[in-house]
Amino acid sequence: MKYSTITKDSFEQHAVKPNIQDYHKMYREFSWDKISNDLSWFDKEHINIAHVAIDAHLETDRRNKKALVWESKKGKVEEYTFLELSRLSNKFANVLVKELGVQKGDRVFFFLERVPEIFIAILGTLKAGAVIGPLFSAFGPDAVKDRLADSEAKVLITSPALKKKIIEILPELPALQKVMLVNREKAPVDPDDLLYEKMMSNASDSFDTIKTHKEDYAIIHYTSGTTGKPKGAVHVHGAVVGHYTTAKYVLDLHADDIYWCTADPGWVTGTSYGMFGPWSNGVTQVVYEGGFSAKYWYGFLQRMKVTVWYTAPTAIRMLMKSGDELPNEYCFDTLRYMCSVGEPLNPEAVVWGEKIFGKAFHDNWWQTETGAIMIANYPILDVNPGSMGKPFPGIEPTILDDDYNELPPGKEGNLALKPGWPSMFRTYWKNDAIYQSRFKNGWYITGDKAKRDENGYFWFMSRADDVINTAGHLVGPFEVESVLIEHPAVGEAGVIGKPDPIVMEVVKAFVSLKDGYEQSEELKHDIQKFVKKRLSSAASPREIEFLPTLPKTRSGKIMRRLLKAKELGLPLGDTSTIDDD
Ligand code: AMP
Repeated sequence: MKYSTITKDSFEQHAVKPNIQDYHKMYREFSWDKISNDLSWFDKEHINIAHVAIDAHLETDRRNKKALVWESKKGKVEEYTFLELSRLSNKFANVLVKELGVQKGDRVFFFLERVPEIFIAILGTLKAGAVIGPLFSAFGPDAVKDRLADSEAKVLITSPALKKKIIEILPELPALQKVMLVNREKAPVDPDDLLYEKMMSNASDSFDTIKTHKEDYAIIHYTSGTTGKPKGAVHVHGAVVGHYTTAKYVLDLHADDIYWCTADPGWVTGTSYGMFGPWSNGVTQVVYEGGFSAKYWYGFLQRMKVTVWYTAPTAIRMLMKSGDELPNEYCFDTLRYMCSVGEPLNPEAVVWGEKIFGKAFHDNWWQTETGAIMIANYPILDVNPGSMGKPFPGIEPTILDDDYNELPPGKEGNLALKPGWPSMFRTYWKNDAIYQSRFKNGWYITGDKAKRDENGYFWFMSRADDVINTAGHLVGPFEVESVLIEHPAVGEAGVIGKPDPIVMEVVKAFVSLKDGYEQSEELKHDIQKFVKKRLSSAASPREIEFLPTLPKTRSGKIMRRLLKAKELGLPLGDTSTIDDD
């Protein structure tokens, strides 16, 4: 069986024919500098992401083309052309600069549901030369506070409902000067609340986009590590060169496409490929406000006539779980290309995609730090089920041993990349030492274990660290442990990822209780609720196991490795020599 939708042989039968000559030409002549020059503005040193994504289309026949088609949870549809997004984002830039005193380089954060305003406000912020910080709307107050405090965000855009959730942390953020509310629901607000709708109605729709250098900071996305709080990976305006190029050649976006990216705008996929990549290619994006529902998603694919779909393995496995009958009630005639990212895509999911949609999901690999797709199953390659694919042109991945020497094909080791592509992160916000520690022997160390085969395909093996990947969301065990020990009953806590057939891993916590507390199911639920409320439901332990004490190193650090080995029934090894690492 072939697992490719667009192989060299199948071009002829394809509705949209990606031009194979184009691809070959692209590979032969590939140069980041050339693409960067094509997208730059005034001169080759200046780029602004919002300009490339939106305003650059105004002088073309895409001016009045639909850029965003949004459907609310209640089924209400709103449409915005490139021209409308341009004008609305100009208004927002004026609000920021003229009303709120935002200056180039200030951080503006977004804690907002998936509504059109988040797209408009993000574009406007980039036009104003400020740095955007999108946050996942399911976060709880602790998760939001860590990120706002670390970035010293000056402005927060949120909604009345979400503001209520984080109200207690706001006084603890000295750098935060303004909180603006998007009040779609027309909820009661305080008289002195800044309202998006009101401020936008008074603002001019013309704005001279700040002439940002391609190395000026544009985006901060926080990502979790093994130790410490989440780190802010910083991306520059020039990153759009990577978003544009990979959206064109990996997601195979063409002018007539109707494209759906299911990622939330709070995560890097939601910005690189839920905003900048597709719009810089002049493509119409459809967005559904709500979360996962098999029935709704199938209906949305059909109703919106989606042609290119970018989703995630957990969602695909949840669709598989909902059965093969349901999709039979829908027609997916327009769908021509499907991609997946965020976790390993199991071969069964590729085969299932072929059965249900008549085409394979094309897996690709990248991470917050890389800013754009690095390794992919391309349209012109046959999909190799279970593999992440081959490197994108201009990207040089390798596999290194633990001394950072290159390993031959077939050997598992650390997945590393040769630095230097445009969308690569430039630092971790105020944490340059940790940023520098990610480079060894001239390679960027990704934190993943992988191997390369003889044909140049890369295969994901595991994370090299303790970070948990649950439904494509990275969760740092330290973050969860820090919240757990704030629960009055918890003395010590150790957190690991437990394998799960649907969401890849679930968070499992081992907990020892303080004197005077008794184990019970109620207490477990209470602890779960506590973490969910403070961090998010993804970070809340699906399982809690009480232990009298937790295994520790000589200096008292909890040994997650041992907890994980115990959980998986693996040999515990000789623990007497385990020291801090
Ligand atoms: P994030 O930075 O949150 O986007 O997460 C990036 C991490 O998700 C990577 O370092 C991998 O561990 C995992 N990941 C992303 N894409 C894939 C993929 N296609 N296959 C396996 N793991 C993936």
